[in-house]
Amino acid sequence: MHPLTIAFMLALLAHLCVQLWLARRQVAHVEAHRTTIPAGFEAAVTAADHAKAADYSVARQRVGMLEALYDSAIVLALTLGGGIALIGHTVTAAGWPGVLTGTLHLLGVFALLAVAGLPFTIYRTFVLEQRFGFNRTSPATFFADQLKGWAIGLVLGGGLSAGVLWIMATAGSSWWLVGWAAWLAFTLLVTWAWPRVIAPIFNRFAPLQDAALRERIDALLARCDFHAKAVYVMDGSKRSSHGNAYFTGLGREKRIVFFDTLLSSLGPAQIESVLAHELAHFKLKHIPQRLVAGAAISLVGFALLGWLSRQEWFYAALGVPVRSDAAALLLFLLAVPAFTWVVSPLLAAWSRRHEYQADEFAARHSDARSLAEALVKLYKDNAATLTPDPLYSAFYDSHPPPPARIERLRALAGPAAAAP
Ligand SMILES: [Zn+2]
Repeated sequence: MHPLTIAFMLALLAHLCVQLWLARRQVAHVEAHRTTIPAGFEAAVTAADHAKAADYSVARQRVGMLEALYDSAIVLALTLGGGIALIGHTVTAAGWPGVLTGTLHLLGVFALLAVAGLPFTIYRTFVLEQRFGFNRTSPATFFADQLKGWAIGLVLGGGLSAGVLWIMATAGSSWWLVGWAAWLAFTLLVTWAWPRVIAPIFNRFAPLQDAALRERIDALLARCDFHAKAVYVMDGSKRSSHGNAYFTGLGREKRIVFFDTLLSSLGPAQIESVLAHELAHFKLKHIPQRLVAGAAISLVGFALLGWLSRQEWFYAALGVPVRSDAAALLLFLLAVPAFTWVVSPLLAAWSRRHEYQADEFAARHSDARSLAEALVKLYKDNAATLTPDPLYSAFYDSHPPPPARIERLRALAGPAAAAP
């Protein structure tokens, strides 16, 4: 057996063990605290809310554990099990030109992965979210979303696949540098097109009508010297009662998007503070930092792929006897995550640092107490657990654990906030 085969299987197994171990820790920790509301939350969260959040977290972890097992089995079946090789053999038999054959190979495997993931998506939407009262997706909306998603995947995934395969076939041994540049251009194009072309395929975006709230938001934007093109309300309630707010777009074309579900559950001061937090990610340059880090990571990825794709053993060790450019891309996409998951805690810690910084910014330019109130309301509405396992949270969570985050915000709000 080739050393890479053994390393791949061990890495996959190690990842699975860590995922299951952390999920079990999370379940145990959340269940142990099911009847104890953490200090400082008693006024806003009832015993029933707290128990519901615990049950929801545990139910999601149980599905997550099953899915981790299932995903590992699929990765194994496609690589060492010969799935990629079989699909490659089938599309090659047609005798079409190389780039077309390669594109079909990639799309065939992507389609298989999409179909394989469908049972879990259906279960989450119509069983799990339904049971806890969050689901508002009708079967018709779900079906339409799937069709739209497949069509967009076919256009974007097919275009990108064909482009990269063409570069691999024509740009010589340093193709990976050209491929990386094409990947960056594609990322920028999708970032530009997302709010304009893609998001409106799924949701309706209407300009914010509430004049008083709009005035409040404009005052905040002026205070922070921030220019946004428009403020929109999105019909998030079409699919789920979970609320959210986000920024989108680049440069002068930035837009603010509120889910209608968020606007209906928070008061004006709370909405302003949530917006101030989101704005901070722009003002503190978190978004450009992430883009640059993403570009650097993908450059390393392309360089590694450039080298691996020339090694005969890379294909043979991962279950593909006949080498091809499409197989190199597929093996890279499926096998590399088995090794790179070890850096995910670093990325999560980096993100949590940004969250604390954005909270401090919101405290300076808006109001820390309103933000704390808004977050507690959102934790409650979304049934987010207030008592995550510390290790689980450190490994995965992009946001700080609720008690630590709220405690900091209350400290920032100063002694006035502590007065009754
Ligand atoms: Zn944030």
